[in-house]
Order: sequence, then C-alpha cells, then structure tokens
Amino acid sequence: MTSTATTTSGTVRRAAEPSSLLPTDALPPGQHFIAGEFRPGTTNETQSVVDPSTEATICDVAQGTAADADAAVLAALEAKEAWGRTLPKKRAEILLAIADRLAENADLLARLEALNTGKPLMVAEDDIAGSIDSFRFMAGAARATTSLAAGEYAEDHLSVILREPLGVVGVVTPWNYPLLMAAWKIAPILAAGNTIVLKPSEQTPLTTLKFAELTADLLPPGVFNVVTGLGPVIGARLAEHPKVDMIALTGSVNSGRAVARAAAETVKRVHLELGGKAPVVIFADADLAAAAESLRAAGYWNSGQECGAGCRVLVHESVAERFTELLVEQVSTLIVGEPTAGAEIEMGPMISKAHFERVLGHLERAQAAGAKAALGGGALEGTGYFVAPTVLVDVPEGAACTLEEIFGPVITVETFSTEDEAVSRANEVPYGLAASAWTLNPQLGHAMASRLEAGTVWINSHLVLANEMPWSGFKSSGYGRDLSAYALDDYSRTKHVMHNKAR
Ligand code: NAD
Repeated sequence: MTSTATTTSGTVRRAAEPSSLLPTDALPPGQHFIAGEFRPGTTNETQSVVDPSTEATICDVAQGTAADADAAVLAALEAKEAWGRTLPKKRAEILLAIADRLAENADLLARLEALNTGKPLMVAEDDIAGSIDSFRFMAGAARATTSLAAGEYAEDHLSVILREPLGVVGVVTPWNYPLLMAAWKIAPILAAGNTIVLKPSEQTPLTTLKFAELTADLLPPGVFNVVTGLGPVIGARLAEHPKVDMIALTGSVNSGRAVARAAAETVKRVHLELGGKAPVVIFADADLAAAAESLRAAGYWNSGQECGAGCRVLVHESVAERFTELLVEQVSTLIVGEPTAGAEIEMGPMISKAHFERVLGHLERAQAAGAKAALGGGALEGTGYFVAPTVLVDVPEGAACTLEEIFGPVITVETFSTEDEAVSRANEVPYGLAASAWTLNPQLGHAMASRLEAGTVWINSHLVLANEMPWSGFKSSGYGRDLSAYALDDYSRTKHVMHNKAR
C-alpha cells in the first residue's frame, strides 16, 4: 500500500503562507547528553528527524551505538551515590526548579513538540502543562512518603523500613507524547534518588534533548543522560546492561517483550507501559449526547495516537442508531490541519509514513471484512501523513479492527444486548490499560468498574487523568505504575533493618 492508495473527502488546513513554528537556532544540539554535556557519538552516523505534517526534514541527530549507551551508563553510575544521598528536600527543590524552567520555556517546548510530531499546538501545550505538573507533584511526593510504622514486631527487635533508590534506571520512551512520557519517568525516578539514561523515540528526540539543554545547570552531571538512536541498539543495550538496575519502557507490546527478555539475563527490574485498546461500554440509559461529545476528544485527541483512547465502542442495540448519529455529528466537526494553520486546529497527522501506512492498512482490512465508514475511512489528500477522523460501523464481531491497537483516529462501533455480553466482549481484547462505562444507574456503574479488566476505568467519562492517580496496565498493557505515589514506590526499593535491643 502507498500513501496515496486511499484518500477520502475532508480537508487539511494549511498555513496561508509558509510559516515556521520555531527559528532553527531554537533547536537543541543533535548530540547525546552525557555527564552534563552534549557530545558527538562514537560514530558520525545520524538519523533524520521529520515533520510529519510537511514531510520535511527538521534536522539530523546522532544515531548512537552500544558504546554510547555504555558511556552514559558509566556517567549515571558515577553520579548515583551522591544523588542517592541528597535529602528529599534538596531533590524536591531541584524538581521544582526544573518545573519552573519548563514553565518559563513552555511556549518554545510546545512549538518544538508540535514541529516534531505535527500535533496541534493545543495538544502540545497540554503535554507541556502535564510535564510541568509531573515535576511539581513528584517534588511534593518525595517529601511525604509513607511506609509501615517502625516498631517491635518480633520480641526485643526493632524493625525499621528504609526506602532506597534502585541506582541507575534505563528509560525508553515513545513518540506519541515525547516530553510528557519522558516527564512521567524522569520526575519519579529522580525524586526517588536514582540516576537516568534515557533513550527517546528515534522519531521524536527533540523535546527530550531540549529538556537536557534547559536543565543542564540544575542537575549534577551524570544524574540525567540522553542517548539518541534505535530501540534494538540503545534500548536493548540498556535492558541488558549489567550496571543498569531497572529498565522502564513506554511503547508497544513487542518492544516491551524484547526489553523484558533482555532484562531477564541480569534479573533487573522491569517497568512496562504498553499498548491499549480501550472499550467504551454504553448502556441504554446513558446520556448519549455526553458520551458522543466525550469521545470526540477521547477517541481523536493526538490523532488517536493515544494508548488510553476510547476507540472500541460497545453500545446497547436499542440506542445504537441514535448514538452513532450523535457520534458522527460530533466527530465530523473536528478541525484537521498543520500546527502552523492556527490555534483552532484539533487534529494533526500520523507520526510517520510507516505508521500512516499501517493505519491505512487497518482501515482497508476492516472495510474488506465488512465494516462501513460512517465517517472518514482513509487518508486525507495532500502532503503530510493525515488520516481522516473515522467512525467504523457494521463491524463484524471479532474483526481485527476491534481487537488490535490501530493507534489512529478511528472508533469502531459494535452493539450488545446484555450486560454479561458487554463485559465479556469488552474484556476479550488482549490489552487492559483503560476502559469506560456509560450509565446513569450508579449500581451498574459500580458493577462495571469492578468487572472491566483495565488499570483505569472511567464511569461517564473517558481519558481524564490526574498526576495524583496511578496510570498502569493489566494483561498485555504491561505492569508498572506511572504517575502518583505508586510510581515513586516502583522506582524505590525497601530494606528491612532489624535492631536487637535486648538488654
Ligand atoms: P515502539 O515500541 O515502537 O517504540 C517505543 C520505544 O521503544 C522507542 O524508543 C523505540 O526505539 C524503543 N524500542 C523499539 N524496539 C526496542 C527494543 N527491541 N528494545 C528496546 N527498545 C526498543 O512504540 P511507539 O510506536 O514509539 O509508541 C506507540 C506505542 O506505545 C503504542 O503501542 C502505545 O499504546 C504505547 N504507549 C503506551 C503508553 C502507556 O502509558 N501505556 C503511553 C504511550 C504510548
């Protein structure tokens, strides 16, 4: 399939005149950030970073090698003891200073994120605000950790629980929310007293490198390091490295499996935030208009390139027709365009040509299997990797498009007749990251919250997150908690110290 194989009506808003989101001198250095400074790699190999809304190359960055990863691990090792000993108060002050520095540069960071991902400025601005709040939350949480009370649990022995950092944590991040997903890792990992080697997605390294540049004077050298390059090279090396104490990855299930396999050799801890396919169960008594309006955002935010996206609707057969009308009405008003085309743009392109073609392949197979596009259904014409906001109906039960993660602006609509059927079909996806149920009956809402197999369940809402609350998956969506005090736990270890106090 080529990028022109399927096009559909609808337009992509473009800037009236060629305009740029950022001057070129605002780009970060395209090098690794190791021991507090930018460095070229061990080879001169580079990779191009592309703007997916124009298909133009933005810049080139170093394509790292295992030796580059090793150099960064060494820097993180050298920094770990001193950083691990800093008092929570000191670490909190540094995290707050990082948050302030990000806030001072919020506009620049949002523009850089929009340039690298093609996402609308309103989405990029939301990402940066969430990143800043991650640092602020973890600054407070680091000073307010809780644990079992110290006390005598065996005769004449005083037990104390120490919470310790793990050491060096390897982090691998995806392209959909480049800085936000990095912040969800960096903030708790540093707050817990660990040092970091982070590998950003090869497609979207720019805001992570800018973060390193902006915070270089705030963190001791070696505490935070970035190595750019390919997953199977840099990510794999971090996962297998004997001096890396834990590996945390946000990405696809396949990358998660690869990392867990590589980590098994050294029995290091693994933290995985993987894919999703969130079911949205709509009962006959639900507020259908509210559900349709909520899905306009929850299904298409970030062009549906969102692991918690509400993308698989299961609606009671008695209200399916009315709900579908409302959904199509809502989704048809989405404004698609390049980030330079104005503040009202709500949806951008797919991240890359390869991903664009993958999404189109899903749409083609779904329609070949009998699904009908009530809206959209293919690519939008012109430059850039734009896919039309799509609603698929008449979807045969068990069709691949209802079970596999499409990671594009696509909602499938299926029907059910009983609560048990709704639950078993919602739970048949291999993923378990997020789900929602819509009903005005509170008992049914409670029942659905406990019956749906997902790390986050919304009742009468979808895709609302809070830094105080954990974000984590069940089943193939991985294990490990992002956000909240649970993330701090995941990046710490507890040690039981027992004093014999018999006299
Ligand atoms: P991806 O798995 O292709 O890449 C993620 C990262 O893993 C990249 O940095 C990549 O270079 C690296 N990687 C690839 N192969 C690797 C290997 N063998 N060893 C080590 N690292 C490797 O995912 P993506 O396409 O960048 O992101 C989309 C995926 O991420 C989707 O499945 C989405 O659901 C998931 N995601 C999950 C969450 C969550 O919180 N659960 C959040 C965002 C994205």
